[in-house]
Amino acid sequence: MHEGKWEKRWHPLRQEWVVYAAHRNSRPWSTATNQVPDKEVPAYDPACYLCPGNARVHGTQNPPYQDVYIFDNDHPVVGMQAPEIEPARRVSGGGLYRREKATGIARVICYDPRHNVTLADVSTEQVAKVMGAWREQVRELSRNPAIGYALIFENKGELSGVSNPHPHCQLYATDFVFKHIEEQLEAARYYRQEQGRNIFAQIMENEQKDEIRVVAENQGAIAFIPFFARYAYEMMIFPKKRHATLMTMTDTELYDLAAVFQEVIRRYDANFGMSFPYVMSIQQAPLQGEFPEHHFHLSLLPPLRQPGLIKYLAGPEIGGGNFMADTLPEEKAAELRRVEFRK
Ligand SMILES: [Zn+2]
Repeated sequence: MHEGKWEKRWHPLRQEWVVYAAHRNSRPWSTATNQVPDKEVPAYDPACYLCPGNARVHGTQNPPYQDVYIFDNDHPVVGMQAPEIEPARRVSGGGLYRREKATGIARVICYDPRHNVTLADVSTEQVAKVMGAWREQVRELSRNPAIGYALIFENKGELSGVSNPHPHCQLYATDFVFKHIEEQLEAARYYRQEQGRNIFAQIMENEQKDEIRVVAENQGAIAFIPFFARYAYEMMIFPKKRHATLMTMTDTELYDLAAVFQEVIRRYDANFGMSFPYVMSIQQAPLQGEFPEHHFHLSLLPPLRQPGLIKYLAGPEIGGGNFMADTLPEEKAAELRRVEFRK
């Protein structure tokens, strides 16, 4: 991979450079020698606020749920009853300092009553069921004109900042549209204007043509580490047919997406010999209005770049705003494609 040394690649969705300094001396590691054993976790934990029947912070008791279970977050970051900000306090400092109330709904979505499973362990049907529950949430929220966006995300693993292993994700429904989505909408608009094509269709076509960064694929969905990945094991997972949001996905399309997603996370786990941490987010269009350029997809951003080695965001990323990567997407995709995984 000589060509990978000191190469920068344009990130078309973020409109920024990603710098790759791939070291040829970084030897391949073996999962056997670097394995961090997962802690023994019981199927039911009496101290877990997400397990069936347990009490949560304000004393609300979870029902003895058997399936996907959704509730309003006990410590919501946004609220429908957020207090009004007096008009005189909304804008100050020469128009630069603005405040508004933080309107929205925050929910927790438990994937499974069992405390010790992940989406890699459950059946593909169960993963599709979870995605179906996401779809229902988005449909419901879209009927509320005060809600502009629904961000569904999962922070998985202690390395992603989550101490409770109970399989769950979160939903933030807000009156504003999240920054990455705004960026993608703008990039898609620009690409259409410049090239007359859909940016996501072009990315998928490029990845299918190059083939080397594709990690999993079936009839309805495809997963790849994009050419312009910022994280070593970053993954984009697309339904092949374009949907702006989850709302219009059919059951068959959801199942295909679930199968490809599950293959990816099983490959992750097998490759590292551990339940592999990641930040997953659903990248869909805003809920109000028409967004014919947007193509809903899943984004997985794992913090690990090697066993026991986290990609810390530091000077270039935090200070400067551009990512520096020391592995190439092609190498990491090949690694994940090679790994024997549990089907
Ligand atoms: Zn639990």
